[in-house]
Amino acid sequence: MPAIRELYGLLGDPVAHSLSPDIHAAAFAQLGRPAAYVAFRVPAGELERAFEAARVLGLRGFNVTIPHKEGAAQLCDELQGDAVAVGAVNVVVQRDGRLVGHNTDTVAVTAALSRLEQDVSGRKALVLGAGGAARAAAYALGRAGAEVIVANRTFARAQAMSDALAERGLEAVAAPLTETSLRELLPLAQVVVNATSVGLEAPAASALPEGLTFDPSAVAIDLVYRPLKTRFLQQAREQELRTVDGLEILIHQAVASLSLWLGRPVDAARLAPVMRAAALEALL
Ligand code: NAP
Repeated sequence: MPAIRELYGLLGDPVAHSLSPDIHAAAFAQLGRPAAYVAFRVPAGELERAFEAARVLGLRGFNVTIPHKEGAAQLCDELQGDAVAVGAVNVVVQRDGRLVGHNTDTVAVTAALSRLEQDVSGRKALVLGAGGAARAAAYALGRAGAEVIVANRTFARAQAMSDALAERGLEAVAAPLTETSLRELLPLAQVVVNATSVGLEAPAASALPEGLTFDPSAVAIDLVYRPLKTRFLQQAREQELRTVDGLEILIHQAVASLSLWLGRPVDAARLAPVMRAAALEALL
């Protein structure tokens, strides 16, 4: 095993069950890179000190996850790309002591739509949830030209998110996450994204009530990847929709993170299967 010369990591809480160390270790091995990726548990209130540590110790780059994506946007020396509009950072690159923040959660949704060749321009996109992950998904869909419907349990958060999208010049409306509202909205959407945490470690639970009808040409994307076969994805598959699971989304954002850290495009077609295999092994 070659000596480790480069350190990357993940800052979040909790991180013990994250698949990111597994998928990045597999990618670095495939690339023959003398690098390691470590998950660091950083409790709320400790992010600033963790950023200082990353600077002092010279981490080449790191990911940021719950609950720090918005806090990280405040602590970076500079934001680039979608991080500016989304106001949240999930990837940081260190160059000459400067920490530059990016958002590749948006890139992941765009890449998934592109794999399915689903054009959402001028069509409706339904995003369930209004948390950090929903914000990135909704921004990516709005930028692709969709009219975004944000449906959330706490309606005020859906309203705030659709207002923020509208301020960026994107078409968005808010809706309550109720059976009555979803019965009306679901058949109108060309893409439906579960960006709630419903289904996480709960294979029978779905943010979508049972017995509703999708548009037959729609695609369904779940951001939850534990379990991989969520009830939400099963509901879509029962109506023969094409689907994207949360692990595909995680890997798309990880590939985009890698290319930012290395400062060059990486071969996603070669790396993604290796990363997925490592994640599936870790999920067993
Ligand atoms: P978050 O900011 O905590 O937001 C959670 C969302 O879920 C909120 O909209 C919340 O609604 C909703 N929710 C929670 N419990 C609910 C329930 N019982 N019924 C209806 N809605 C409920 O979390 P996040 O960072 O956006 O992450 C959301 C999910 O995406 C998590 O499972 C996370 O693991 C996953 N994720 C995956 C990836 C990936 O790469 N695959 C990336 C990011 C996140 P309220 O506003 O009403 O509380």
